[in-house]
Amino acid sequence: MHAIGRQPQRAPDGAPLHYERHRPEQTTLYRLVQQHAASFIAHTEASTGADLPRFIKDEFDAFLECGILAHGFLRLRCGDCGHDKLLAFSCKRRGFCPSCGARRMSQTAAHLVDHVIPHVPVRQWVLSLPIPLRVLMAAQPELVTPVLQVVQRVITRHLLDDAGLSGDEGQGGAVTLIQRFGSAANLNIHLHCLVLDGVYRSGADGSPAFIEAGTPTDDELHALLQTVISRLMKMLTRRGVLVEDMGQTWLAEPDADGEEARTLRPLQAAAVTYRIAFGPRAGQKVLTLRGAMPREATARQPLCADIDGFSLHAAVRVEVHDRKRLEQLCRYITRPALSDERVQLNAAGQVELKLKTAWRDGTTHLVMSPLEFMQRLAALVPRPRLHLIRFHGVLAPNAKLRRLVVPRTPQVQEQGTEASAAAECEVETLQARPNRISWARLLKRVFDIDMQHCPNCGVGELKIIAAILERPVIEKILTHLGLDPQPPPRGRAREVERD
Ligand SMILES: [Zn+2]
Ligand SMILES: [Zn+2]
Repeated sequence: MHAIGRQPQRAPDGAPLHYERHRPEQTTLYRLVQQHAASFIAHTEASTGADLPRFIKDEFDAFLECGILAHGFLRLRCGDCGHDKLLAFSCKRRGFCPSCGARRMSQTAAHLVDHVIPHVPVRQWVLSLPIPLRVLMAAQPELVTPVLQVVQRVITRHLLDDAGLSGDEGQGGAVTLIQRFGSAANLNIHLHCLVLDGVYRSGADGSPAFIEAGTPTDDELHALLQTVISRLMKMLTRRGVLVEDMGQTWLAEPDADGEEARTLRPLQAAAVTYRIAFGPRAGQKVLTLRGAMPREATARQPLCADIDGFSLHAAVRVEVHDRKRLEQLCRYITRPALSDERVQLNAAGQVELKLKTAWRDGTTHLVMSPLEFMQRLAALVPRPRLHLIRFHGVLAPNAKLRRLVVPRTPQVQEQGTEASAAAECEVETLQARPNRISWARLLKRVFDIDMQHCPNCGVGELKIIAAILERPVIEKILTHLGLDPQPPPRGRAREVERD
């Protein structure tokens, strides 16, 4: 939901009303989707002769309704002064919506630090894959699970060895964030594992004792990556994804050539390699702008192994008491693919996507046509029910030790079921026994809305009084406030311009 509040006004029933609009419909990203999504869908379907998957079309639709008051909102009211506040509904999608992405980032990071990650040192292990395997993971996301199992087993074995324990004497723990994109909103599936930097050993009384691990050496890291690669290759060959022939390893021709594969494969492959999937410039590379000075190729970094396009990075460690830094790290690895500020239009009507950090060759922006940009957005949408956060070892939802090691937090009071339903977030659906963040705390932390202190009188507490979903009521309230009661219009599908 988007926070609104500022000029106090009066609602139709006479209560003072407070609103401050974040106007999603005025961002460049919104306008691009508004004007070009329909053309993109029509064009993709025409050029491939297949339907674009429903979940991608739904994502575009939901994004266009996200944060728009004309599609409905919640009314909050102060118990003391009767002051009102409106909160527009949000799309809660995981693809490219910047505001929902930013909110999910805050919620997830807060949840992990408050309720999941034990008070022990944590090391981040990042595994990146060579480009052909990225394309494979994008096309067959179910492969992420066995890949992750291989990585977890290798790291856990290393930590057990470090502690001098055998497999049944100790247990590790980790949270993995499956990140689907790189800094250019390119599809770059890689794994960020926050691994407890050590193992738990059960004491005589059954209570777990943590044995801290030492820092791995560069040689150890290299050997670990070597093991990960050979096990991954074995696993993928066993599953028939890789084919060994004449001493070479090949990617098996994907046999699924359903509707979905025909539209999705080219989009995903293009988004991985920065190429354009369909249209007059199909197969060409996205143009780049070089603003920054080229940087020298960085020298070999410590605790970063590179072999055959795979890389394993393990240099980031968070000390036991640095929970603030842990939360920052959690935010970093759960950050959304896009932010509104990074998407701009140039005078020629092309999209300029600003990179988060300039590339080594000095590239600062990618330039593409609006339709090419739509392709990239479409490739960012994850399949429904694909869980992007996984818990392992002692942190697995059904692990016996879990209850004994996760942070203990005082019970927080809830403010009613409608509030908690509205506050549902991805993490909660993944947790078997969610330790819910209270609605009021969540609003404070995520929207910066203080539910305990009314912005008008400063004393009263805000309560949700109604969900406004019916057109006539929405129109009445918005018209009264001098706001546009109609949703922004959608662009129609147009012929693609040839250049
Ligand atoms: Zn949204
Ligand atoms: Zn008040």
